[in-house]
Amino acid sequence: MTTFGIDAECGRLIEYDTAAELRELCKSGELDGALPLGGGSNILFTGACRDLTVIHCRNTAFSIRETDNCGIVEVSAAAGCVLDTLCEQTAAAGLWGLENLSGIPGEIGGAVVQNVGAYGAELGDVVARVNCLNVKTNEFVTLTGEECRYGYRDSVFKHHPAKEQLIVTEAVLTLRRDGVPNLSYSGLKERIGRMSGLNLSPTVMRGEVMAMRNGKLPDPKKTGSAGSFFKNPVVSLEFHAEIEKRYGDRVPGHKVTDSDGLERIKLSAAWLIDKSGCKQFSAGGASLWPLQPLVIVNTEGAATGADVINLEKQIIATVRTRFGVELVPEVIHI
Ligand SMILES: Cc1cc2nc3c(=O)[nH]c(=O)nc-3n(C[C@H](O)[C@H](O)[C@H](O)COP(=O)(O)OP(=O)(O)OC[C@H]3O[C@@H](n4cnc5c(N)ncnc54)[C@H](O)[C@@H]3O)c2cc1C
Repeated sequence: MTTFGIDAECGRLIEYDTAAELRELCKSGELDGALPLGGGSNILFTGACRDLTVIHCRNTAFSIRETDNCGIVEVSAAAGCVLDTLCEQTAAAGLWGLENLSGIPGEIGGAVVQNVGAYGAELGDVVARVNCLNVKTNEFVTLTGEECRYGYRDSVFKHHPAKEQLIVTEAVLTLRRDGVPNLSYSGLKERIGRMSGLNLSPTVMRGEVMAMRNGKLPDPKKTGSAGSFFKNPVVSLEFHAEIEKRYGDRVPGHKVTDSDGLERIKLSAAWLIDKSGCKQFSAGGASLWPLQPLVIVNTEGAATGADVINLEKQIIATVRTRFGVELVPEVIHI
């Protein structure tokens, strides 16, 4: 049930179909300490978890609703809806908003928690509200997009104490019929720029995004991974200047503004890993994807959670020594 394809055993797996069923499970105490699992595409089981209960939503439904607000369409998707299916179907319906996220594995519940992002877009940009079950109170709650406190691969869901866990049951997204393509990622803009005379639709954008992804990332059906293993580190302008001084050359990064309005620099974790000489590193059955060193792969399907952790530790230590930058994993460790 995970894209890493690493053997792991949990004590119990409960699959449910409706929010009402989830509430019943909560009432009978079944959800205490339980782990919600979506498509398992951003999670690493580091060892046996025989005391753990894993829960998974089987509901894949979604619906599209026109609103009175001209051009705006609300799309509701159950937690178990596959994100890429939603990207495909909404693009086919002529709706703008999800096309840049095409090809990201996983389900809506996981995507809402992780605030997935790619090619200049983040899911948080289009989240209107999220319906969840609060495990402590056994009550349904609705969070607005703002209340989800979205940041870079971050959300309020990641900061709730385990006992007050919020289990996502449904997300409502705001997409647009009259939207415009998001070309803020320069590589995508260049590609589209070369396609003269084309009528740019969400489906065309989706096709270009998929083509870019396929050239760079491992196909989860063939090679196990959890996508980008580390987050791109965000540092102060002063620290960036200091790293460049120490390195003796340009260290690529781009300006971002954090929640306090402060300008900071987002570095490329892939570049740091490459320039630290980690590209050839391996540990047991785990290694780095040759086309994208930010991705740790289960090389031939025989890696263990411990192999991945060993490789992760080697990379973190080497980048720290070379650049003084602390890499933080994006992938959730259990
Ligand atoms: C080849 C590949 C490429 C990838 N590319 C990208 C990319 O471009 N951009 C990007 O951002 N990510 C990328 N990822 C990472 C991953 O696909 C996303 O993070 C995805 O959204 C995870 O969704 P999931 O359903 O698989 O979640 P899981 O991995 O199952 O879970 C992730 C987290 O969400 C929690 N969770 C899951 N469902 C629920 C729920 N219903 N309620 C509460 N919590 C829940 C889990 O407990 C866990 O903490 C990639 C992964 C792979 C393998």
